[in-house]
Amino acid sequence: MTPSFTEMWRELAPVGRDAGTRGYRRYAWTGADADCRAWFREQALARGLTYETDRNGNQWAWLGDPAAGDAVVTGSHLDSVPDGGAFDGPLGVISAFAALDELRASGAHLTRPLAVANFADEEGARFGLACVGSRLTAGQLTKEQAYALRDADGITLPQAMEAAGQDPGAIGPDPGRLSRIGAFVELHVEQGRALDLSGDAVGIASAIWPHGRWRFDFHGEANHAGTTRLADRRDPMIGYARTVLAARREAELAGAVATFGKVAVEPNGVNAIPSLVRGWLDSRAADQATLDTVVSAIEEAAREHARRDGVDLTVVRESFTPVVEFGHALRDELNRILGGKIPVLGTGAGHDAGILSAAVPTAMLFVRNPTGVSHSPAEFAAEDDCLAGVRALAGVLEGLACR
Ligand SMILES: [Zn+2]
Repeated sequence: MTPSFTEMWRELAPVGRDAGTRGYRRYAWTGADADCRAWFREQALARGLTYETDRNGNQWAWLGDPAAGDAVVTGSHLDSVPDGGAFDGPLGVISAFAALDELRASGAHLTRPLAVANFADEEGARFGLACVGSRLTAGQLTKEQAYALRDADGITLPQAMEAAGQDPGAIGPDPGRLSRIGAFVELHVEQGRALDLSGDAVGIASAIWPHGRWRFDFHGEANHAGTTRLADRRDPMIGYARTVLAARREAELAGAVATFGKVAVEPNGVNAIPSLVRGWLDSRAADQATLDTVVSAIEEAAREHARRDGVDLTVVRESFTPVVEFGHALRDELNRILGGKIPVLGTGAGHDAGILSAAVPTAMLFVRNPTGVSHSPAEFAAEDDCLAGVRALAGVLEGLACR
């Protein structure tokens, strides 16, 4: 007997959990990560699957011949953000093993090889870059760039990999491996409330929203908080505060999201009018045009408020990731397999599936998260919904690999 979904869940639950916060600290290539990876290997071996680790440290468990090609792969990641929840990542890996068990128990005849995958270092909590394992495999991160990654203690990625027993000299693009994959389906806990609002346990992803980060620098004049008349001030905090409100308003109008979550103030004195307020905007929307409209409207509002207060403003785009639209053919096939009554929704969060979609047909299934909370110990999905996710994934694997 292979362990059930509930048994696997129980077994993995204590690994890397902080006793104080109850959040997970499963950072890439640490001891907690090694324990998760050992658990994955055990699951593969307990099922008689062919286990391997690829050149970039991603783990694979194969049913059928990997060399046969046109494989159907499912899985996710086991690492976490600092004090992350139990579902983001592990739900996709545990559901993958459980779906595979369901498929085998049904006696379905496989016509394509199947694999469960655990992608290394998805969250980027330790080295600051997300999806390192899948990026390397897809050739979206070079060996040189990966070698330059360092954690907070100055340990480089190759040093960390070596310490964990993984050869860093081998890392790099893996087009041969990708060419043998016909479809990748990642099941993931939803990181929003769309399914809760629609009343569905499971949904299909349409796209990963384009997103970017912009830095707003409001330059004013430092002065005494007690003796400077209000009329004489060039206070950059006022324009910044109005810009935060404008961001909220513009995002609401457009059905997008916009967040000022990080701010730096100079000189940062309780009795000083600031000379500089620097705020970072994170904004995401369903499509590029909407995102452009939202960010230009926020910038325009910021300029207007800064001008009124005699404050100088500079805006710099620090990073940008374009929309990832999952292939319609695979998405429509999933919808057909699942009976055509499954909601299709976009997401503002990044995933390995988004990285791999540039190289292989890729789709995602989401499982309802009643509060929408994620990247927090409060992240949750009901067991019934998780099991509905397993059934949906098993149906998808059967529909794709047993034709
Ligand atoms: Zn995730």
